[in-house]
Amino acid sequence: MKIRSDWQPAEIELIHNTPLLDLIYQAASVHRQYHDSKKIQVCKLISIKTGGCPEDCGYCAQSSRYKTEVKPQALLEKETVVNIARVAKESGVSRVCMGAAWREVRDNSQFEQVLEMVKDVTALGLEVCCTLGMLTEAQVKRLEDAGLYAYNHNLDTSRDYYSTIITTRTYDDRLNTIKNVRKTNVTVCSGGILGLGESVADRVSMLHTLATLCPHPNSVPINILSQVEGTPLENQPHVPIWDVVRVIATARIIMPAADVRLSAGRARLSQVEQALCFLAGANSIFSSDNGHMLTVTTACPGYDADREMLNLLGLEARPSFVGK
Ligand code: SAM
Ligand code: SF4
Repeated sequence: MKIRSDWQPAEIELIHNTPLLDLIYQAASVHRQYHDSKKIQVCKLISIKTGGCPEDCGYCAQSSRYKTEVKPQALLEKETVVNIARVAKESGVSRVCMGAAWREVRDNSQFEQVLEMVKDVTALGLEVCCTLGMLTEAQVKRLEDAGLYAYNHNLDTSRDYYSTIITTRTYDDRLNTIKNVRKTNVTVCSGGILGLGESVADRVSMLHTLATLCPHPNSVPINILSQVEGTPLENQPHVPIWDVVRVIATARIIMPAADVRLSAGRARLSQVEQALCFLAGANSIFSSDNGHMLTVTTACPGYDADREMLNLLGLEARPSFVGK
């Protein structure tokens, strides 16, 4: 399987709709051509600025437009972030993602503080990823100079379905930030969410947009919606595990070298279900010591439980800076 960016939507649809066990087998084979199938990257998400976001993303606990459990908080102190990162590293984490509930980065003192956090967490020997909203080219350059390894900016869903979920920015705004990141050596992390009420055609379309970026995103998070009380999507039904496995396997086949990350929503999957996701090509998880991934409303398994699961499955945590 060679790396291609000229995928047609119909080809991706055909792969996505392959009989399930054949699809898993194909994805597992491609996975073994490009990756050490024993290695899983364990990541830790730190919400450095929680809540009070002006955007209206229909799934998000942090949007100020919805009444959720999340209380807006100030930007965390650098020392707090570095301490969380240090504990994470001791627990087998090799990548730390710092998230802020911002629409975009502004050139102010808070950005200066984030740059300092990037420097200090990178100095611990960790891959640092940031997800701070929209960025200009000059801002990415400054993050790169501070040592940033990756920038996350999810497409979330298809171009057609996007405005049903988010109205305060466009799909092209999203792609434009990714383009700005690509002007530097910072790697791109971009994926989506399953369970927003999207159709199979929307899933295929989002995968097509990702797999026709040239080069592909280095990292593709596949989130499962955590239904948050108070948001417009609070009553969405759970996504069947088979849909999750199909999307992971398809992403693995069409973007063979990317890290495919089993991200939000993993807390509700059994070990058997997670094992199927790993077989289908997922090679990364988010783990936490405080029981939640990003905010109090998104549960996340703990370091110890995850270490036990990896041991049970004969898997090992991957060190930093060995991904592509
Ligand atoms: N504000 C920045 C942005 O939107 O790019 C970064 C933070 S945002 C919380 C990061 C990602 O988390 C979103 O793009 C979305 O894919 C995911 N996410 C947020 N809330 C979620 C939820 N309730 N369920 C699943 N995924 C979620
Ligand atoms: Fe804000 Fe990001 Fe949440 Fe959207 S997903 S409301 S941009 S924090």
